[in-house]
Amino acid sequence: MKLGRISAATVVALAAIGLAACGSGTPGGSSGGGGATGGGAAEAVKVGIKFDQPGMGLKEGSTYSGFDVDLANYIAKELNYTPTFVEAVSSQRETLLKTGQVKYIVGTYSITDARKKDVDFAGPYFIAGQDLLIRADDASITGPDSLAGKKLCSVKGSTSAVNVQKKVPGVNLQEYNTYTLCVDALKAKNVDALTTDNTILAGYAAQAANKGQLKVVGQTFSTENYGVGLPKGDTALCQKVTDAVNKWISSGEWQKAVEKNLGPSGFKPGAGNPPKPAACGASSGATG
Ligand code: GLU
Repeated sequence: MKLGRISAATVVALAAIGLAACGSGTPGGSSGGGGATGGGAAEAVKVGIKFDQPGMGLKEGSTYSGFDVDLANYIAKELNYTPTFVEAVSSQRETLLKTGQVKYIVGTYSITDARKKDVDFAGPYFIAGQDLLIRADDASITGPDSLAGKKLCSVKGSTSAVNVQKKVPGVNLQEYNTYTLCVDALKAKNVDALTTDNTILAGYAAQAANKGQLKVVGQTFSTENYGVGLPKGDTALCQKVTDAVNKWISSGEWQKAVEKNLGPSGFKPGAGNPPKPAACGASSGATG
């Protein structure tokens, strides 16, 4: 008992020393002016991205690339963060934000009313549309209307899986954890098509390992407004991220990121791009 009390007190004392040391070690302290980018130590934050979507969010060794990665880095620079990237698979995104495991997510994350119950979004920063990826030699699938009797693949927790079941009731859908698992199944003929956003599908079709083997059908059947996922209720963070997204678009960096990341697959942004990000707390921009 006695020992327990002593060790608890010791822990408290050590924690206090730790905090004091931490405070005095922060360059600039609380009196340092200049705003978010005006100097001071950068804050280390975890940022969710996709790891397996070429052109959007891709991890190769210790290198990260893609349109979403460029935006994630731009936001980090504007907000004086040092980002560490964490994989945010589609079904885990809300959980990662709700449990504070990431500060924000830039990962082909569509703004929807259902998701807005759990998280906030800054954006939209891009508009995509749902499409189909099939084997290059398959002439039997020409759009969502020709999916009867076909095996389809998509990812758990994605709008793609929800949309296609509404569009084609009774469709034979397998839901995997990641889109690359669907690509493997498509090449192995375990499924006949993969459905998700055209941005993601274009990246797979152009990937060296798949070149000539896969093609995008080119009949989009949804509107996907991509937003930066944020913890619910942090209005100040939403405002800062929205400002960064607006600056990314107006400065020409958005266009550069499109050419650099989506150019190699020949993907051209559709109508409405670049979009105008909504005010924080506004309900516009949501689908589904
Ligand atoms: N944009 C869609 C979504 O947020 C599909 C892509 C994805 O799963 O990341 O669900």
